[in-house]
Amino acid sequence: MKHFAAAALALSMLPPMAAAEPELQISRAGTRTANSAPAQNFTGSVRVEMLYTPAGPERTSAGSVSFAAGARTAWHTHPLGQTLIVTAGGGRVQRLGGPIEEIKAGDVVHIPPGMKHWHGAAPTSAMTHIAITEALDGKAMDWLEQVSDAQYGASQAAAAAGPSQAQRLLGDVAPKLAQLTDDVLFGDVWARPGLSPRDRSLITVSALIAMNRPDQLRSHMSRALDNGLSKDELAEALTHLAFYAGWPNAVTATGVAREVFATRP
Ligand code: MN
Repeated sequence: MKHFAAAALALSMLPPMAAAEPELQISRAGTRTANSAPAQNFTGSVRVEMLYTPAGPERTSAGSVSFAAGARTAWHTHPLGQTLIVTAGGGRVQRLGGPIEEIKAGDVVHIPPGMKHWHGAAPTSAMTHIAITEALDGKAMDWLEQVSDAQYGASQAAAAAGPSQAQRLLGDVAPKLAQLTDDVLFGDVWARPGLSPRDRSLITVSALIAMNRPDQLRSHMSRALDNGLSKDELAEALTHLAFYAGWPNAVTATGVAREVFATRP
């Protein structure tokens, strides 16, 4: 009995059983990878960076989805709904039977359970949103048919826009250069998923500032705003570059930025 009492005493002095303490999970900026979205469920260039994937009994996932201009999801539904937080650029969302709604950075869209809908970029600007989705029995969405160009309105937009900028600027003198600009540079290189349109705009604007190319900078400043860069970020880029590319180049770029910013809300 003595031994038993001693053992009981010893046990009572032990710290409580360490119940597996849950740890905070922090996914550090820059450590996540983005993958191309599957072509069967999307049109155009779309990259998905999963921010959180549920584990155990949890059911809510979050991902940052970047759509190149013209890209969009297929029609789909979510059994428990979805919330979209637009973080950059401008895009579109539509429920079946409803109007196409324009959405921009800062807007939050809630899609109720079971509603057939699609979301994506606008025809001429990229869009990134964070999508927060709750799964029911392990399933967060049901994919349906693609959103056709006619449903998306891309063809009307392209027709309304008329000839491309390259065709207007180069087409009369150098039609092949205009075609390569449209098909290879913007149709292929700019649409590649390896970099977001926003990042492509930032490096292109930076190169044009550094090389003092105000004519090309003008259209690329405008494109950069379409692709989700803010006026403040562009001003910051040219201020930064003054120290690496030369003060006169930054001053020239400031004049271009003033012209472009004045035309934009
Ligand atoms: Mn959705």
